[in-house]
Amino acid sequence: MRYLVTGGAGFIGSHLVDRLVIEGHEVRILDNLSTGTLANLTGPAAEAELLLGDLRSTEDVAASVRDIDVIVHLGALGSVPRSVADPLTTHDVNATGTLRLLLAARDAECERVVFAASSSTYGDDRNLPKIEDRCGQPLSPYATSKLAAEHYCRQATELYGLTTVRLRFFNVFGPRQSAQHVYAAAIPRFIHAARNFEPITVHGDGEQSRDFTYIDNNLDGIALAAAAPAATVAGNVYNLACGRQTTINSVLAHIAELHEQPLVIDYQDPRPADVRHSLADISRITEALGYEPTISVADGIDRTWQAATEDTTPVGVSLAGN
Ligand code: NAD
Repeated sequence: MRYLVTGGAGFIGSHLVDRLVIEGHEVRILDNLSTGTLANLTGPAAEAELLLGDLRSTEDVAASVRDIDVIVHLGALGSVPRSVADPLTTHDVNATGTLRLLLAARDAECERVVFAASSSTYGDDRNLPKIEDRCGQPLSPYATSKLAAEHYCRQATELYGLTTVRLRFFNVFGPRQSAQHVYAAAIPRFIHAARNFEPITVHGDGEQSRDFTYIDNNLDGIALAAAAPAATVAGNVYNLACGRQTTINSVLAHIAELHEQPLVIDYQDPRPADVRHSLADISRITEALGYEPTISVADGIDRTWQAATEDTTPVGVSLAGN
C-alpha cells in the first residue's frame, strides 16, 4: 500500500510512519515542521519520503496525494490554549487544510482518508461516557476546527464518494511527545518536571479526568480504520480511546511512585475552554473494527517514564487538551 501521513513528523505521525515502514508499506510524509521535528524521523521513518510542505498550499497538497492509496491525516495545529490565542491559524490549518486535502484526494482518486478527529468535539456535553452521536457545543476554536473538518470528511463521502473515516482521538500519550513546549500535553510535561525536580503546574484541582490513551493503542485503531472494508468505515465516526477514566491527580500519584519521592505540585486556576471530564464509549469501534486497547494507562505511563529515562533528546511536540 502507498500511504500519505500528513503530520508525519509529529508525535503520533512519526510513530505511525515507523510502524508502516516496518510493515513494508511505501510511505510519504507531508509536514511543515511547525510542531513536528526531523529528529522524530531518525528510526524506520527515515525510509519514508519526506515532502516539506504546508496543508495551506494547494500545490503542496496536490503533490502529496499523487499515487497514494490511503491517507492518514494527522497534520494539524493541536492545543486548546493555542487555538484560543490564535483561532484563525488553527482554523486555516485544521479546517480549511482538511477540506483542501479531501478535494485533492478526490481528484487523485485515493482510496481512503483516515482523519484524526478529536474528543474535544464533545464540548460541553456532560454525559459520560461520550458516545459518537451525542455531541455538545464545542468549547474552543480548536474543537470547532476539528468538528468542521469532521463534517467535511462526511460530506466528501456523501457528495463525492470518497471513503473517509473519522477517529476521535482521546488524549494520546507516549514516548517522543514533547514536554517542554508551552502547549505540551499533561503526561510528558509532568514526567519531564518530575525528572528535573521542578514544580508541576496543574490547572484546576487535579480531579478533572481524561481518557488517556497510550500511543500503541491509538496506532492499532488507525491501522484497523485504514484496512477495514470500505462499507464498514465509509462516512463513519469512531471514538479511539482506552475506555478508562483517569484523573490528573492519579496520574501524578503514579509518577510520584516511579520517581520514588513526593512531587511539588502547583495547583492553579482552571484554563478557559478546558473540559472537566472525558471518557469514551469504545463499543462502536470495538464492534465494527475489532479494536481492543492492549496497553493500560498505568503500563503506558511506565513505558513513557522508561523512555524518558533512556532518551534525553527533546523530540516532537504534542499538545494539551486535545
Ligand atoms: P503533533 O503536533 O505532534 O503533530 C502534528 C503534525 O502536523 C506536526 O508534525 C506538525 O509539524 C504538522 N503540521 C502542523 N501544521 C501543519 C501544516 N500547516 N502543514 C503541514 N503539516 C503541519 O500532534 P499529535 O499529538 O501527533 O497529533 C496528531 C493529530 O492528532 C492532530 O491532528 C491532532 O489534532 C490529533 N489529536 C491528537 C490528540 C493527542 O492527544 N495527541 C488528541 C486528539 C486529536
